[in-house]
Amino acid sequence: MRPSDLDPAFISHAPGYWSGESMERWDDHRWQLRNRVDSLMELEQKLNLTDVERAGVLLAGTKLAMSITPHFFNLIDRDDPDCPIRRQVIPRIEEGWTAPEELADPCGEDSHMPVPGLVHRYPDRVLFLVTDRCASYCRYCTRSRVVSGVGEQHLETQWEPAFKYLEQHTEVRDVLLSGGDPLLFSDERLDKILTRLRAIPHIQFVRIGSRIPIFLPQRITPELCAMLKKHHPLFISIHTNHPRELTTEVRDALGRLADAGIPLGNQSVLLRGVNDDVEVQKALVHKLLMCRVRPYYLYQCDLITGSSHLRTSVAEGVAVIEGLRGHTTGYAVPQFVIDGPGGGGKIPINPNYLIDTGSGHVTLRNFEGDIFEYPDPTPMPQADFERLHQEALSRSL
Ligand SMILES: *Cc1c(COP(=O)(O)O)cnc(C)c1O
Repeated sequence: MRPSDLDPAFISHAPGYWSGESMERWDDHRWQLRNRVDSLMELEQKLNLTDVERAGVLLAGTKLAMSITPHFFNLIDRDDPDCPIRRQVIPRIEEGWTAPEELADPCGEDSHMPVPGLVHRYPDRVLFLVTDRCASYCRYCTRSRVVSGVGEQHLETQWEPAFKYLEQHTEVRDVLLSGGDPLLFSDERLDKILTRLRAIPHIQFVRIGSRIPIFLPQRITPELCAMLKKHHPLFISIHTNHPRELTTEVRDALGRLADAGIPLGNQSVLLRGVNDDVEVQKALVHKLLMCRVRPYYLYQCDLITGSSHLRTSVAEGVAVIEGLRGHTTGYAVPQFVIDGPGGGGKIPINPNYLIDTGSGHVTLRNFEGDIFEYPDPTPMPQADFERLHQEALSRSL
């Protein structure tokens, strides 16, 4: 029987469905990429698909490709059609339906691109989309309009104009490399990009957004870590949604990054049937802290086309945060955000702990529901000021 997902123990799932494979090949990230599950035939050889999934795979070919690394595939429970790993990477028929509220570009990124590939929406920082490929594809991808290369739109990063823009825009102090997954690039290619960015004096801070430590921990080699280390201050934001994703291999890969001095954050997406549950979220954030990863954001799922079966209400996200704040380590609690549809940026959503703002005081509620009054400061009366002033003068004599 599969161990409980709520158990804090880290376990290895290798080699599982690939039990005939040597560990040497298994540990090679190139082997992992070459052997990704990306066809209906391969998928059916390994799992009993439901009708809903089979139809989903057949429809996915023209929207967002299916591709799953053997490492991640091994986390799928063969006997559980509601497996939380399965829901993230195996297409379902619901993806083919567009709900009225859904959009191809839910965060309005295309209208904030001064140069193709560069999203400049906040005053001091930019999102640099460096590739449209990932190690595996998340079915709720916020950039499914360009990611994986099978849809109608294509990402065409304009490298030289993008670097020129960054050189000219001295207000940009923070560059976030994303895509797609930047860690799919070779060490040499990444080194060149990071060196070029580091040569721009006003860029203080560089970040990489990547799900490679989760999908393909074998890619986090000592050589990669040694190269990244040259470009500090460099942060990495990983993307994990469910505690089962944190295997021994993933923990060790994250440990190599942390040992290279790279501060690690996690971004989760709140997904129906995956992590819309306080106990699952608690197990996830506790395991993240054990891996030296600070939970950063919990995203309300973007209004991406074909995602209604994976989205929850906003109230469910607030309930998750309420179940964490105060009940566990403060470091373990992510900020819940909604990326404002059409380009509003990330908007923080919090449970309401400020019940009333009266005159001269506020009324608060704590995590256990107890009520507290906190008063505003009382201004010092002039008479007391003068009395103390006189007293101080008399002492100096
Ligand atoms: C998320 C995002 C950033 C980074 O936001 P932080 O809150 O600083 O992590 C920057 N640009 C765009 C377009 C983004 O979507």
